[in-house]
Amino acid sequence: MLELPEVLAYAKQLQTALQGKIIKKVYPPTNVHKLTWFNGDPEHYDAMLQGKAFTTARGFGIVLELEFTDTYIAVDDGIRPRYLQASEEVPAKYQLLLEFTDQSKLVFTVMMYGGILAHKGDCPNEYYQTSISKKSILAEDYTIDDYFAIVRQTSDKLSAKAFLATEQRFPGLGNGVLQDILFTAGINPKRKIATLTKEELILLFHSMKETLQIMCDLGGRDTEKDIFGHEGRYHTKLSSKTYKDGCPKCGGAITKEAYMGGSVYYCPICQK
Ligand SMILES: [Zn+2]
Repeated sequence: MLELPEVLAYAKQLQTALQGKIIKKVYPPTNVHKLTWFNGDPEHYDAMLQGKAFTTARGFGIVLELEFTDTYIAVDDGIRPRYLQASEEVPAKYQLLLEFTDQSKLVFTVMMYGGILAHKGDCPNEYYQTSISKKSILAEDYTIDDYFAIVRQTSDKLSAKAFLATEQRFPGLGNGVLQDILFTAGINPKRKIATLTKEELILLFHSMKETLQIMCDLGGRDTEKDIFGHEGRYHTKLSSKTYKDGCPKCGGAITKEAYMGGSVYYCPICQK
């Protein structure tokens, strides 16, 4: 799934890969996928985008957005963008395909759920609006005071996982990246926010900023595939891919549990 490090890293890749491209044709979905949502009818995307030139790619929150002249395409969550050279094969099933005048392509497939939103700068989608309007935790001017303002507004009853990954308190921070953020801070995902000391809350803040920045600098996590189909270079410490290797700090067994819509991974010794 796209989370903040991936949308930033893939935007950087797309900024280079799509330089000078002009859309020749937009192909609608090959199959109906109930959990892929569009802004309007994807059959109309071709009329909206044909002949438009690529200008800018950017990432914010959970959204990866491409600008073509005066029209945008924003994707989020489980939408996987893949850039294809003219010689590369197009997958049989996709949710949208952009063909450029030089025959290269950008194809969007879906994992679980996600949105593909073409718009004119007025995207009505709620997640899009939250993602674009809130200050990014990775912004230089996002300070510890901003963070503590959010902590103060948070119910004491919330767990660390719920605090980080629900209500879009920190857009782009989801169930994927939070595992390593909490591991680095030494905090159990089920700990109640009220039980965290000031020192632990500060540790958590620094872990959020640093972990997300490293993930972004390394082109995203190794559990996700970038626009060329390559795994990110950030090696996840706790994920479905690595938890069987044991704790990277103490070597003990990692616990995997279903918790609040998705698995959590933690070391019962290092994250009490
Ligand atoms: Zn451990």
